Amino acid sequence: MPSTVDALANLPLRDDLVGLHPYGAPQLDVPVLLNVNENTFGVPADVHAAIVAAVDAAAQGLNRYPDREFTELRTNLARYLGHGLTPDQLWAANGSNEVLQQILQAFGGPGRTAIGFPPTYSMYPLLASGTGTRYVTAPRDAAYAMTPDATARAVQDSGANVVFLCSPNNPTGTALGLDVVEAVYEAGKDSRAIVIVDEAYGEFAQTGTASALTLLPGRPRLLVSRTMSKAFALAGARIGYLAAAPEIADALRLVRLPYHLSAITQAAANAALTHATTLLSNVEAIKVQRDRIVVELQALGLTPAPSDANFVFFTGLENPHRVWEGLLEAGVLIRDVGIPGSLRVTAGTEEETTLFLSALKNLL
Ligand SMILES: *Cc1c(COP(=O)(O)O)cnc(C)c1O
Repeated sequence: MPSTVDALANLPLRDDLVGLHPYGAPQLDVPVLLNVNENTFGVPADVHAAIVAAVDAAAQGLNRYPDREFTELRTNLARYLGHGLTPDQLWAANGSNEVLQQILQAFGGPGRTAIGFPPTYSMYPLLASGTGTRYVTAPRDAAYAMTPDATARAVQDSGANVVFLCSPNNPTGTALGLDVVEAVYEAGKDSRAIVIVDEAYGEFAQTGTASALTLLPGRPRLLVSRTMSKAFALAGARIGYLAAAPEIADALRLVRLPYHLSAITQAAANAALTHATTLLSNVEAIKVQRDRIVVELQALGLTPAPSDANFVFFTGLENPHRVWEGLLEAGVLIRDVGIPGSLRVTAGTEEETTLFLSALKNLL
């Protein structure tokens, strides 16, 4: 779109935004959408009915501003997460992306530094630039893993004010050991770093993978973010949240917009959370397809990364972009994350997974 770019160049845009590209997973109309890690099972009928009823009731009061403190939602989120969390330790916003943005507004900003460990979630640098936060990176090892020592050293050397740990990591899919989180937290003592563990895919973890929620007691700079966009099949509702010490919510109140969570959003989220068990009933089926993808990709001679998420990252392709295009022609959209030799695919229903695997076999 050269005309847009030219017109944009004529605007008095902030210097630090010039030349940046917006978040842009392609939005294409394709029968099998396995590109942005949604829950492809859809919303179960009884949850749908509960959301409709709750939104209907909320609509009658839309002349009034919503509960600014979203008290019922925080209570429901605390109950869902467990781990002895109380409502004052929960915070929510319109997607965990907004939660992350609020964290940078409160703890990042001009003169402050955030650190990430690529390949990781592509929104971290964008949220940093949007808030005027310097974004620095440190590498992973050859297998995209992170060790406590190297990660702690990188955090200490950077003097970072905010640390992004993505676990399970997007796009590679593997969860971090809690020893890494503990080491990073210690290493951030001098700069009093806020350590965010982004557990957007936490519900899909392999058995035995522990959540950083278990590390919260006694760590006031540790924040664990979650979302209802993935396991909860509610990406369209835009609800993300975090658990942390209660004073973190006090900090975020300083930067959030007034009444940032609409009455409609709160009603939908509360209705969904009262049906959490039903909503999450497809998580096990998705994990089965995820593990099936790993096994079948190996049989095809490819190298999938171990996955604790609802997607699989795989390498060993000679020309990933050509494979991506071939899959698209076959009606299957997956994600080219721009890493040499690699692609990422969401685990969907059994039928979608079969369509992906057989289209891929034809192409190789
Ligand atoms: C999908 C995803 C999110 C969730 O974003 P929402 O704004 O809650 O939809 C957050 N972090 C990572 C790493 C993700 O992949």
